[in-house]
Amino acid sequence: MRTVKVPLSDRSYPIRIGKGLLSDLGNHCARLGLGNSCALITDTNVSRHYRKAALQSLKTHGFKAISICLPPGEKAKTLKNVQRCFTLLAKHRMERGSFILALGGGVVGDLAGFVAATHLRGVSFVQVPTTLLAQVDSSVGGKVGVNLPEGKNLVGAFYQPKLVVCDLDTLQTLPIREFRAGLAEVIKYGIIYDAKLFGQLERKMPQLMAQDTSVLSATIARCCRIKAEVVGYDEKEEGLRAILNFGHTIGHGLEAISGYGKYLHGEAISIGQMAAARISRVLCGMPAADVDRMAALFVRAGLPTGVKLNKTQTRRLLAAIKLDKKVEGGKVKFVLAKRIGKVITSQKVPDELVLQSLLD
Ligand code: ADP
Ligand code: ZN
Repeated sequence: MRTVKVPLSDRSYPIRIGKGLLSDLGNHCARLGLGNSCALITDTNVSRHYRKAALQSLKTHGFKAISICLPPGEKAKTLKNVQRCFTLLAKHRMERGSFILALGGGVVGDLAGFVAATHLRGVSFVQVPTTLLAQVDSSVGGKVGVNLPEGKNLVGAFYQPKLVVCDLDTLQTLPIREFRAGLAEVIKYGIIYDAKLFGQLERKMPQLMAQDTSVLSATIARCCRIKAEVVGYDEKEEGLRAILNFGHTIGHGLEAISGYGKYLHGEAISIGQMAAARISRVLCGMPAADVDRMAALFVRAGLPTGVKLNKTQTRRLLAAIKLDKKVEGGKVKFVLAKRIGKVITSQKVPDELVLQSLLD
């Protein structure tokens, strides 16, 4: 088992990464010295595979646990489901000493974290992310929240968990498309922060795709360490944390105009990162060889690198980009790359160049 520490002074917490950790979940929780009752929040897909094992382990270690099961997918990240959780927590008398345990992907983690942050003004929170994306990204950094009809993640909080447990075995049941989408965030860490990691990914992509234990656990740990370091410097996104948005300005735009249906998040930011690289080639002198290496790696990970839009889609994309909450005073700010491993934030990009950059 590997451990990565997220350094946030009195809110620091460990991320445990390894195989077979779910069957030991109760033990990990017991060591935190939390109260003895907990609410496990999950979705129907994850529940089918892992709820029993999680509950069994909690029970063995003396915890009294209830479980709350949500429908799967982004559409479940609503205030209505938050309300449903509050009602069940009240009904089962989950008091201040109790804790919330999120078992699932980013959707479950974001919603359960928001419930933990607000139930009785905050109870302890433990996360067991079961998608690659959640293990390397959403479970690190404490952003929790839900969507409104008006947009994604418009209601939320910064709320850190007490512990994150990444059981590599849970990834075995993850649909291959979801696993690949997670690789888009993994590759992103190489581009924004760690050229050496990018090189390792180029060498080890086949083993990573085959979920080779040592490659997978080293890669997840490296990504968590990078995100922990970035968040440790800048918890509330006042500066450095913005680098994590590389590829996300255009990526979020694509997700929005396709009604959050066509692309998985990882696929949209794969296109977004390639677009940002092509823009960087023009505006920041990113070497052509680096742009090519990026495209080659995304392709090997089974991810898309471009998109052809018609006139209407083009107009809607530019409008969606300008609506993104990262926009300040009407100005869209892009994260661009000088080279693989080094990015710069707050860059202005003309609309024309955004559109050109979408094509392979
Ligand atoms: P993400 O972590 O990518 O933000 P979700 O929470 O929506 O996204 O999870 C993606 C999909 O994968 C959902 O349908 C979810 O139910 C399913 N899922 C999550 N973890 C697993 C797993 N370990 N095995 C099988 N399906 C899973
Ligand atoms: Zn992302």
